[in-house]
Amino acid sequence: MRASIISVGTEILFGQILNTNTQYLTKKLNGLGIDVYYHFTVGDNEKRLGEILNYALEKSDLIIATGGLGPTQDDLTKETISKVMKTNLVIHEPSYERLIDYFKKSNRFMNENNLKQVYLPNESIVLENGCGTAPGFILSKDEKMITCLPGPPKEMKCMFENYVIPYLKERSSQVIHSRILRFFGIGESALETELLDLISNQTNPTLATYAKSGEVSLRVTAKAKHIEEAIEKINPIITMIQNKLGEYLYSCNDEELVEVVAKKLMKENLTISFAESCTGGLLAAKLTDIPGISSSLERSVVTYSNQAKIDELGVKKETLEKYGAVSEQTAKEMAIGLKQRTGSDLCLSVTGIAGPSGGSEDKPVGLVYIGLCYKDLVLCEKHNISGDRNRVRNYTSMLAFNKIRKTIS
Ligand code: ATP
Repeated sequence: MRASIISVGTEILFGQILNTNTQYLTKKLNGLGIDVYYHFTVGDNEKRLGEILNYALEKSDLIIATGGLGPTQDDLTKETISKVMKTNLVIHEPSYERLIDYFKKSNRFMNENNLKQVYLPNESIVLENGCGTAPGFILSKDEKMITCLPGPPKEMKCMFENYVIPYLKERSSQVIHSRILRFFGIGESALETELLDLISNQTNPTLATYAKSGEVSLRVTAKAKHIEEAIEKINPIITMIQNKLGEYLYSCNDEELVEVVAKKLMKENLTISFAESCTGGLLAAKLTDIPGISSSLERSVVTYSNQAKIDELGVKKETLEKYGAVSEQTAKEMAIGLKQRTGSDLCLSVTGIAGPSGGSEDKPVGLVYIGLCYKDLVLCEKHNISGDRNRVRNYTSMLAFNKIRKTIS
């Protein structure tokens, strides 16, 4: 089944509200095995909505429209759908009774235009609005199906889940199931090159990559008669990818890198402390986003100045004078000093130049050292990170979490 989603509302076109309805509906329809071919957004304009409806009817079997079901004059979705589908709007008695009852119970005066809401296309299946007043409907004609839902996301979801999903399930013969794999340390094009055979030869499951702030995700999607069959199709592909790119793969379940690290620390009962210079507490902020991490995170000290590095971590003055604050020697001394003071299982230090100023020929902006003490291991990694201050700091935090992941796995 091919579907199109039409969002009606001038405020969406103006960018005043984010079109979350379309995102939600697309995910849900995919889960039901229905391919979404088009997303349309149209203002509250009868002519343009009519044009889009005609186009969408030509291209799809199912149309889901949201918005413009309310009582005001600019709410004209139903009226336009009726015209395009060559049917009439007639009063729906049960909805009328409910509306009267609603106003009576809430002790409010009902305007004449509220009645507009209970006029619905003849021969449609009327969908009760459990969270508001405007009913929706499903209209089937000539092998085409149009479902019209209210704009407010809460009302739309409530109606979609209660009525539309069961209705569509009866008519859909397949499911679509996806797994999202996340990688760090490999670029999107390198990942695509590594998996070229799989990507170009697979039709079910299909593979699609996308890059997001320093990392890459791979969506593996299978269509099948039922979820178990889809999982059976996906699993061997994931195993092949794990064997080939395991060193970069950190999650097969669309988790954040920090989440994976936090879970591992907690599972292994490991404690951790940070000494942060250029990240200024970012590592601790990200880690403390994860519930339950208090069992692992001992402390994070922000040692931004040289004096702080001396006072809080015991970095030698001579080291700072001889090699500078952004150096391998300082990063190591920071980690060692932290280990001596905290006794945490893993101590990680970060020192670098986030920019935009402060760089030199020898030590350019983006130069970052990550020091680490774990068991008998003391090491330091040097990185040159491109981008603005924000990216340098964020990418440093990802490098740090990735280093921790690899060290403790
Ligand atoms: P109402 O009876 O409240 O007028 P309606 O069905 O006529 O409902 P609209 O008037 O089009 O719906 O939209 C009402 C509100 O719902 C919008 O102001 C907006 O906040 C939200 N909304 C509408 N469409 C979307 C959408 N596609 N994504 C997210 N929110 C939406």
